[in-house]
Amino acid sequence: MSILDKFSMRGKVSVVTGGNRGIGKAIAVGLAEAGSSIVIAARDEAKSEETLTELTKLGVPAIAVKTDVANRDDLEAMVETVAKELGPIDVLVNNAGIGFHANALTLSDEEWQRLFSINLDAVWKASQVVGNQMVKRGSGSIINIGSISGLIINRPQWHSPYGISKAAVHHLTKSLAAEWAQSGVRVNAIAPGYVKTEIASTEYEDYRHYWRDEVPMQRYATPEEIAPIALLLASEASSFVTGSVFVVDGGYTLW
Ligand code: NDP
Repeated sequence: MSILDKFSMRGKVSVVTGGNRGIGKAIAVGLAEAGSSIVIAARDEAKSEETLTELTKLGVPAIAVKTDVANRDDLEAMVETVAKELGPIDVLVNNAGIGFHANALTLSDEEWQRLFSINLDAVWKASQVVGNQMVKRGSGSIINIGSISGLIINRPQWHSPYGISKAAVHHLTKSLAAEWAQSGVRVNAIAPGYVKTEIASTEYEDYRHYWRDEVPMQRYATPEEIAPIALLLASEASSFVTGSVFVVDGGYTLW
């Protein structure tokens, strides 16, 4: 097998939660370009259909399954649909996530719970539902999208629940990696720095000094710069990598 063959995803089935826009979409396109069948698991059906049109042009089977990742029934139904239409899942990318700025003194319990239900609980539930099947088959790769916010405290904006949820995602990654290492299932995370997507679209200009000028590389990332790392972690190219958190931040966390 040549080194480039190790990156091939031909014959694989990959699920990307929140794969209809932003980082998730770039990852879905990247895995499709490497030959994988793709499942978009997100809520906005119109947006998922748009992304599907782009994916099918790449010549791979692709489906969209309307899924609220916070809902275990939706996740179980999604896995059943995928099994019927494409076969068992080889790769799960837990990418769906939300973020908002929040002052620790005034944040409501409801907002805390809403964020954790998507950013952390859903990663746990999807890993459990899909991981069950992967452990039985003795193979699979799970990639969780964490954040540099799980490693450092961002400024000037406060968003402690977001950072706490991402720190927990990193630890969840390591815990499951250890538990499933002998079952042939690898679990890794990617911790991106500031990536220009809808999650914070109105804020990039306001916080340009902190979010861009203070990055050693002096720019934001594009979603397409995250996708190759996901391909590395999804494919045979990373066959001895598990429990890692890959920082992709243009050097932001260096100082
Ligand atoms: P976007 O806001 O552009 O996209 C978020 C995606 O998540 C959408 O596809 C959305 O689809 C999906 N989503 C949200 N809630 C749910 C839900 N309950 N069920 C299913 N899907 C859901 O965000 P990004 O692409 O920027 O972020 C993607 C991931 O990367 C997130 O986990 C984020 O925290 C992380 N990240 C982002 C960074 C950045 O600077 N952009 C930096 C570091 C990490 P729909 O609404 O259709 O359900």
